[in-house]
Amino acid sequence: MSIASPVTSRSGRPVRTRIAPSPTGFLHLGTARTALYSWAYARHHGGAFVLRIEDTDVERSSEDSVTQILESMRWLGLDWDEGPFFQMQRLDRYHAVVREMLAAGTAYFCYATPEELDAMREAQKARGEKTRYDGRWRPAPGKVLPPAPAGVRPAVRFCNPPSGTVRWPDLVKGEIAISNEEIDDLIVLRPAPVDAPAGALGVPTYNFAVVVDDLDMGITHVFRGDEHINNTPWQINIFRALGAAPPAYGHCPIILGDDGLKLSKRRGAVSVTHYRDNGFLPEAMLNYLSRLGWSHGDDELFSREQMVSWFDGSHLSRSPAQWDPAKLAWVNAHYLKAATDARLVPLLQQQLATRGIASDDLPRLMAACALFKDRCSTVAELADWVAILFVKPQPRAEDLAAHLTAPVLAVLPALQTRLEALSDWSAPSIAAALKATLAESGLKMPQLAPALRVLVSGRVQTPSIDAVLALFDRDTVLARIALAGR
Ligand code: GLU
Repeated sequence: MSIASPVTSRSGRPVRTRIAPSPTGFLHLGTARTALYSWAYARHHGGAFVLRIEDTDVERSSEDSVTQILESMRWLGLDWDEGPFFQMQRLDRYHAVVREMLAAGTAYFCYATPEELDAMREAQKARGEKTRYDGRWRPAPGKVLPPAPAGVRPAVRFCNPPSGTVRWPDLVKGEIAISNEEIDDLIVLRPAPVDAPAGALGVPTYNFAVVVDDLDMGITHVFRGDEHINNTPWQINIFRALGAAPPAYGHCPIILGDDGLKLSKRRGAVSVTHYRDNGFLPEAMLNYLSRLGWSHGDDELFSREQMVSWFDGSHLSRSPAQWDPAKLAWVNAHYLKAATDARLVPLLQQQLATRGIASDDLPRLMAACALFKDRCSTVAELADWVAILFVKPQPRAEDLAAHLTAPVLAVLPALQTRLEALSDWSAPSIAAALKATLAESGLKMPQLAPALRVLVSGRVQTPSIDAVLALFDRDTVLARIALAGR
């Protein structure tokens, strides 16, 4: 593990940012957005971007989740320079810092059992007071602590300053001030398990491990969700207790769902992988996510390189942004149009596979991408179009009734004969056969084309009929037209 040595001052240090997801599920869109800001900020300043996995919630952390997070980061192209670091592999380091703090008197053992703490909180509630740790094991001059009770594994608490105010110039929200009276003595290490050897130390809590890591990894700027604002005073106080300067913090407002409530699993898809699996392109996700809380004038569509050149930490929004599926679809449609067919084909094949369709007819798939991508918002929609090549169409009865009129049915045999006789099966030859059939019968294209569309593709609207028919093989087209006679 290559970790920068601890620092006491950050002035003039190169920018180092990080993203620190907890592996308790997929990579959430909100975390992806702060990862993007952290990454872009580091890239803008020629600094480093670190990936850290905060896995100290041992019960809820999983390998699967780590895999999903790494996959999502890679898919988005948020490349990290260092890591992934795993907190559970750094326990010795946290313990060493705690021992220093115990020796310096900035942390202390607390032997209060969960039952005692519950009783303490109940009593506080009964008196109408705010519930908080009452400092019963906190050392103080002249205070005599009881002897450590036998058989109780102690937690370690941080001696939070009892008074004063913690202030920081938040990169997003401006000046924030929180009084130390609002917060209590944070647990920095949970009690060691009962069967651990005497003197063993436990697993750190988030607020402590995050400080040791941000310090050791030389992090200069932290972008994260504003649910962490109330944790920040503890973190700043611990930095100071360790004789170090905290990083600059920027707390981004939450993302709201289209119902105005916090975007959450219950109210729609919130994982990066969901969007990948449903045919969104990573550059569209990045472009769309970046705008949920940051702007560069009125620019809506821009490349990651442009974003990096613009993202200097200004123009971050203080108010929550709303997730807008229609806008995301619009952004994705833009990138889909711009994507080369060669790039889209493998993505299309994956989508087709989920519909039970396997095809490695690359020329045909390329041609299908070229023909249909302009009318799609996602690769999934593209696959719905391309599926018409492989799956028997199921035209709606009302479409058949509307378009298979007597005059159209009358010309179909002649058209079939012409199509059968074509020496080459291509859009121009098919167009010529259609034209000749129309000239002979007096029918118009707007009568014939919808009928052919419905018969061959099952849809009333398609791109140009000659180009669509050319995508199919001739036998399929003839067989589908023949169904009209039945
Ligand atoms: N593990 C924390 C989370 O996922 C990280 C918060 C932070 O960036 O400090 O919310």
